[in-house]
Amino acid sequence: MKKKVIIVGAGPGGLSTAMLLTHKGYDVVIFEKNPDTGGRNDRFQLGAFTFDVGPTFLMLPQFANEIFALAGKKMSDYVEIKNIDPLYRIKFNDGTEFFPSSDLEKTISEISRVFPEDVDNYIRFKKTEGYRYNRVEKCFKAPYTRFTDFLRPFFIEALPQMDMFNTLQNRLKSYFTNDRMRYAMSFQTKYIGMSPWKSPSAYSLIPYIEHKWGVHHVTGGLNRISKAMAEVVQEYGGIIHTSTPVRKIISKNRKAIGVTLENGENVYGDYVVINADFAYAMSNLVDNRKKYTEANLRKREYSASTFMLYLGVKKQYDISHHNLIIGDQFRDYMDEITMTKEPSTTSLVYIHNPVVTDKTLAPEGNSSIYVLVPVPNKKAPLPWDEIKSDFRNRVLDLIKTQTELKDLENNIIEEKIMTPDDWVRDFNVYNGAVFNLSHAMNQMFYFRPHNKSEELDNCYIVGGGTHPGSGLPTIYISAVISSELIIKDDTGDKGRCFDKTWL
Ligand SMILES: Cc1cc2nc3c(=O)[nH]c(=O)nc-3n(C[C@H](O)[C@H](O)[C@H](O)COP(=O)(O)OP(=O)(O)OC[C@H]3O[C@@H](n4cnc5c(N)ncnc54)[C@H](O)[C@@H]3O)c2cc1C
Repeated sequence: MKKKVIIVGAGPGGLSTAMLLTHKGYDVVIFEKNPDTGGRNDRFQLGAFTFDVGPTFLMLPQFANEIFALAGKKMSDYVEIKNIDPLYRIKFNDGTEFFPSSDLEKTISEISRVFPEDVDNYIRFKKTEGYRYNRVEKCFKAPYTRFTDFLRPFFIEALPQMDMFNTLQNRLKSYFTNDRMRYAMSFQTKYIGMSPWKSPSAYSLIPYIEHKWGVHHVTGGLNRISKAMAEVVQEYGGIIHTSTPVRKIISKNRKAIGVTLENGENVYGDYVVINADFAYAMSNLVDNRKKYTEANLRKREYSASTFMLYLGVKKQYDISHHNLIIGDQFRDYMDEITMTKEPSTTSLVYIHNPVVTDKTLAPEGNSSIYVLVPVPNKKAPLPWDEIKSDFRNRVLDLIKTQTELKDLENNIIEEKIMTPDDWVRDFNVYNGAVFNLSHAMNQMFYFRPHNKSEELDNCYIVGGGTHPGSGLPTIYISAVISSELIIKDDTGDKGRCFDKTWL
């Protein structure tokens, strides 16, 4: 008889796991608290304007392709992916603009124009980080359920490449002489809600990945990937219940046997997969925890949060698809977003202007503009409901002074703000830390919550809170790892359950 898998949450982690397991013949049912699928990768509409809630950069599209392939599908049958070239525009406070590309020749010519002293250093960066990436990638694709997993030959081989005790900014100093060049290769820690001066040097792999494989858009928004996954799940007979929050995981003798829904109904299954935000789920859905107690969860480090402005604008602007404004207090700001007080400046603002690539997102001549500002998570006791309107004005003023969007405010016809409070309310994100537990080395690999629950048997974790971490490509990896663990536990199979090329 088919085994039944219950998945809590229809975010990218839950959907990709469901896609893999339905393809392998499991009977999968997903319970999602929100009215729609996609989680932080969902979409929403403001009048005639369409917005992605969260992700706007698709990196490593080969991973997304691969997960559809492992589920027996071709991603291109469901979504259209476009390469964005140049990758983005970075605007520094002195007016300097930098437009890197995944095309090596173009980037070299751009660096010769803006940071001529760093041309050779860039070539060295690409070569060294490429060597490093090829060794480290495998480490991210394997599970860490036992401490001895660190002794696997590929991990030992990759260890010198991890450069564990170094920070990203320090590593970049070994390549680049110009500060702004280093900023251009380190603002990417905003994707994991950390400061480049505090994050591990391993994250130089993010700019490497962007410069090597590019950043990509999906027609209709990146939410289309999650929607396509939901379609695949349903094609394979999986069931998705939206607007159906789970209240508790039911366990017997420390083994998960089902879930209690918010309406009081009990649903039983053979395996339970938690996709809801990890720390929220431990705190609210799992009783009698041994490891992830309230005290343990409280003392862990969490990523920063984000302040969001989603603007329906009755004008189109001739600016790049992705725009980053880096202010003169970048370092202070990036340090402050991981602290517990209100930041004194706003020195990193991201503006998404997707209509230059994708006309489906706004009526003709209009644009859907999304502004993201990293801010401290809710460990900082900020009264967002009181300060959000001032904060919004501060961000719009900064955009006005630093970019050519001088009349943006006058052209806004639809508007939505999201603060750390809204991430908690709408998506059950613990502390509003939208990039999950921080990605410091002491919370990575074996030290991150395991893909197989450490609290309950027959319970597995997928998504940004488990190994390998936050971000779409890594979440897809977590789905493969956790699905393989389920299949192995179920069948006793010791080898790889999916395509052997995966590892
Ligand atoms: C503003 C922002 C920008 C980002 N930009 C990028 C980017 O450009 N590129 C990139 O790769 N990544 C990006 N990310 C990261 C990426 O969006 C997240 O890592 C990813 O969406 C998290 O997926 P997940 O499956 O772990 O969790 P989620 O997307 O949060 O999914 C979990 C689901 O569980 C549901 N749930 C919670 N509690 C319950 C319950 N009790 N019962 C039932 N359901 C429940 C939630 O409603 C949600 O749908 C961004 C994130 C944010 C917030």
